[in-house]
Amino acid sequence: MKNKKCKYIFVTGGVLSGVGKGITAASMGAILKSKGYKVTMQKCDPYLNVDAGLLNPVEHGECYVTHDGVETDLDLGHYERFLDFETNKYSITLSGSIYKELIERERAGGFHGKTVQLVPHFTNLVCEKIEKASAESDIHIVEIGGTVGDYEGLPFIEAIRLFANKVGRHNCLYISVVYVPFIHTSNELKTKPAQNALKDLRGFGIIPDIVCVRTENPCPRSICEKIAAFSGIAPEAVLNLPDIKSVYDVPFNVLKSGVLEILNDFMGDETEPDMSRWKEFSRRRGKEYDKTVKIGLVAKYVGNDDTYICVTEALKAAAAWNSVNLDLRWINAEDVGKPATNKLLRSCDGIVVPGGFGARGVEGKIKAATYALKEDVPYLGLCLGLQVACIAAARIGGIKDANSEEFGASEKQNNNVIYIMSDQKGKESTGGTMRLGDFEAHLVPKTKTDKIYRKYNFGKESEGQYQVIERHRHRYEVNQEFLPAMEKGGIKISGCSPDGTLVEFIEAPKKKFFIATQAHPEFKSRPLNVHPLFMEFMRAAKHSSKEETSS
Ligand code: GLN
Repeated sequence: MKNKKCKYIFVTGGVLSGVGKGITAASMGAILKSKGYKVTMQKCDPYLNVDAGLLNPVEHGECYVTHDGVETDLDLGHYERFLDFETNKYSITLSGSIYKELIERERAGGFHGKTVQLVPHFTNLVCEKIEKASAESDIHIVEIGGTVGDYEGLPFIEAIRLFANKVGRHNCLYISVVYVPFIHTSNELKTKPAQNALKDLRGFGIIPDIVCVRTENPCPRSICEKIAAFSGIAPEAVLNLPDIKSVYDVPFNVLKSGVLEILNDFMGDETEPDMSRWKEFSRRRGKEYDKTVKIGLVAKYVGNDDTYICVTEALKAAAAWNSVNLDLRWINAEDVGKPATNKLLRSCDGIVVPGGFGARGVEGKIKAATYALKEDVPYLGLCLGLQVACIAAARIGGIKDANSEEFGASEKQNNNVIYIMSDQKGKESTGGTMRLGDFEAHLVPKTKTDKIYRKYNFGKESEGQYQVIERHRHRYEVNQEFLPAMEKGGIKISGCSPDGTLVEFIEAPKKKFFIATQAHPEFKSRPLNVHPLFMEFMRAAKHSSKEETSS
């Protein structure tokens, strides 16, 4: 092992998935980080996809992009928000990618005639990934997706058991998150599924150091003691974590549960975590403000928070730090133009058009951007949100049929203000081929965009220009031939790729706040460190709020 100082925490789940295993793990990470450690996290997921890029966002939630350009699932977004670090290509380990690597190595003759097997080849490769993901950490947390006992997850369970042999059991802490349901008909909490889940885990050679008992309401100590007694675990290591309203209060829930003593023992360190920023954020989020800001999210998949989770989390945090309540109004892009939806749109103090793909709902997004531009309603465009803003401006500027090559390109469609990037042609439905991850942009001096990034110190000054780095995920770009029409429509470029060829930011200089980016700034927004564009968009929406208040 190269990183000899690192300690490892492995988090598995029992009974049910989806009971907050990732948030629990990330909260422990946040606590450890508040003690001064460098903490990183990794997700091992047993599905056979190679990455999350081609997964349906409705079923699977948002596709999160790492700085080095891997399309992952939304768990990594939670990790980055809780720990304020940057995940990378090693932070996501999917069965599909492990198999792919093994099979490619086998085809290239890399196994020298050996039989390639789940154990040891799959398991060793998982251990290698864990080692790489933790190369610079003091503490590395690995979450295993699904629940223990799922067929497809078993090689990962074996890998994390094996990992302790490599680094020493004392350097590993195993946490099992189990669910204890309350049965309303008999008015009691049932521990049997949890006992069985822990028995399964024992069967695979892992006796957890901590069991987190998730319940709907706080449960009596006797429940934890019963689980301890039936599972051969010390009672003080079985901790109750009842449901709580906000995920950002989970770190406090975790602290209250008594986990800190065990983590302190594990780390050999008694220092108190400094949770003051978390406390401040939690206080702000829990507070009822005088002013409520109504933000319209014009999107295709409405009502599913998970599909745009980084955007909604960034908005919620921006509201809290701007001392306003957020009233998030989901606006179905396909309905924009209908009287009821138009009324909803008109009720909003600010409009966000998030990322998206395909033609469905796009005319509604263009209408929303047109409305924002004409009526001076604060507008934040994210990736597709920039493209529809450019189309809107070009149409206002006289090109009535301005469009994007992406949206039903027909021979009739001549005025593609947005067109495919030359290196993307023919790759439209393939995985991992978009312009992905971090790319630099140079901001146009003295634009609003430039001023905002500078105000928050969210980039660096070089040769009189402000240079910023944002994450990307797109295939199409602005065709600068149409700039005159777009400018006539009221927008201008406020940032480009370093060689000037790719439009990265646009803004409407005469409007209160009309800024859009080809990137996804939401991926870099943190609850304790909100992205400048979200902060300033919320501030503008607050000031243009139709509601009269004293705040
Ligand atoms: N569909 C657009 C493109 O591929 C926008 C992508 C996005 O919003 N992430 O360029």
